[in-house]
Amino acid sequence: MEIIKGIAQLKSLVAQAREAKKSIGLVPTMGALHAGHISLVNRCVAENEVCVVSVFVNPTQFNDKSDLAAYPRTPEQDAAMLEKAGCDIVFMPEVEEMYPEPDTRQFAFGALEQVMEGPYRPGHFNGVAQIVSKLFYAVEPDLAYFGEKDFQQVAIIREMVKQLQLPVKIVSCPIVREADGLAMSSRNQRLNEEERKKSVLISKYLFESRTFAGEKSLAETKAFVEENIGKVDIFRLDYFEIVDGYTLQPVKNWEDADYVVGCIAVFCGPVRLIDNIIYKS
Ligand code: AMP
Repeated sequence: MEIIKGIAQLKSLVAQAREAKKSIGLVPTMGALHAGHISLVNRCVAENEVCVVSVFVNPTQFNDKSDLAAYPRTPEQDAAMLEKAGCDIVFMPEVEEMYPEPDTRQFAFGALEQVMEGPYRPGHFNGVAQIVSKLFYAVEPDLAYFGEKDFQQVAIIREMVKQLQLPVKIVSCPIVREADGLAMSSRNQRLNEEERKKSVLISKYLFESRTFAGEKSLAETKAFVEENIGKVDIFRLDYFEIVDGYTLQPVKNWEDADYVVGCIAVFCGPVRLIDNIIYKS
């Protein structure tokens, strides 16, 4: 496994692979890797002859600078996990390498970015599109892997690929959870003991709501999650929306869409967690 820091070196390595007619897969990450990331890497290794993983905490997608400062960084451990998973190339650039000058590009994703994370994290998806497009230009992967944990992000990336007419296929992978149900996240490391204990309630109420969704109305199901989350003293709910899984627009009735997903964002103490559940697909 090669660990590289420069875009020029990355481009020359993938060019060699492409010349040898090898298929190239890319997994973009911000590091502090866990089994959720590794599930993407496993799939990338299985489906491509060359697996590239990027580890880069992208400053332009952090609307909250204290969140950026507190974001966990574990490069040595990440490299060891990636080596074990069979990754071929790890790209770990410094900020100056990715942004030698400010990226002034402004993407527009219309209704997709006006819901859920959009209003709570202004500029977030623009920053995601900036870094992911730079990675796509550098690696030119055949396939790129993203987790459904960041449900809205997958839809935004698909839209970006369409807009930029990039020849990459986006593969989305299911959420990997801790044994108790909490969606794995690098941010979970920041939870203290009480927060970690109570964080499990997010997935618990989502799963519970799925057991009666369809029998109860969509509004009742939404209210069940909102009310129960609201009762937990250390939680502060940003949103819980039940949406069309393709357009991400809220639906009023279960019959309004073929693909229906509930997406939630909650502060658990100081740590903002997101999760989602597929009600219908
Ligand atoms: P991040 O490092 O948080 O930017 O995540 C990098 C990629 O891993 C993104 O595509 C995430 O959606 C994905 N990912 C993060 N956590 C999980 C998880 N628990 N299950 C599946 N994919 C995940």
